[in-house]
Amino acid sequence: MKEQTLVIFKPDSVARGLVGTITSRFEKVGLKIVAAKMMMVNRELADKHYPASREAFINGMGGKTLENYQDMGIDPVKEVGSADPHEIGLKIREWLVDMITAAPVLAVVLEGPHAVELVRKMVGHTLPLKSAPGTIRGDYSFDSSYLANVGKRPIKNLLHASGQLDEAKYEVDLWFNSDEIVSYERVEEDIMR
Ligand code: UDP
Ligand code: MG
Repeated sequence: MKEQTLVIFKPDSVARGLVGTITSRFEKVGLKIVAAKMMMVNRELADKHYPASREAFINGMGGKTLENYQDMGIDPVKEVGSADPHEIGLKIREWLVDMITAAPVLAVVLEGPHAVELVRKMVGHTLPLKSAPGTIRGDYSFDSSYLANVGKRPIKNLLHASGQLDEAKYEVDLWFNSDEIVSYERVEEDIMR
């Protein structure tokens, strides 16, 4: 069940000095850091990381905005000019590419049993407003689609984390060369497995 997953500390978590606090949570749960680099992201990498052609991803983002508006009783057409999840998703994607190329990020590969699902559980819901206390987004942020769209920017939710195993494989390969990923034992591995 050993998996690798990609975590990006987005510009808001780096700028807020939360890298150590959040990394420590991943380490304590037993996830192993097998790659890490501090970097400025170029547009080419950002475009590939947030692919406009991946319908499920684009529609998913638009859908989250629509759900948030429905919860708040807000008309999406009045607010963002559309009720089409694809159209809204593409707009958010542009903001994401601008955001992730504008300031430094830390890219990390975490390894461990069920790493993809485990990291998503720890990170919490996409909308910090909805993410439970105890999750990283729930404990350190409060943003919503509503606030983000009003500001014409993406939701500030600290981290990117791969959503599923196939996404994790694509993203780890995209962000790291194989010689940048290391292999080693942690002392508690024998006890934990
Ligand atoms: N996002 C946004 N508004 C939305 C939905 C998503 O700004 O209504 C941003 C948010 O920063 C999120 C990113 O788009 O982290 C990618 O969306 P995805 O659905 O993949 O959420 P995640 O996997 O990050 O939880
Ligand atoms: Mg995602």
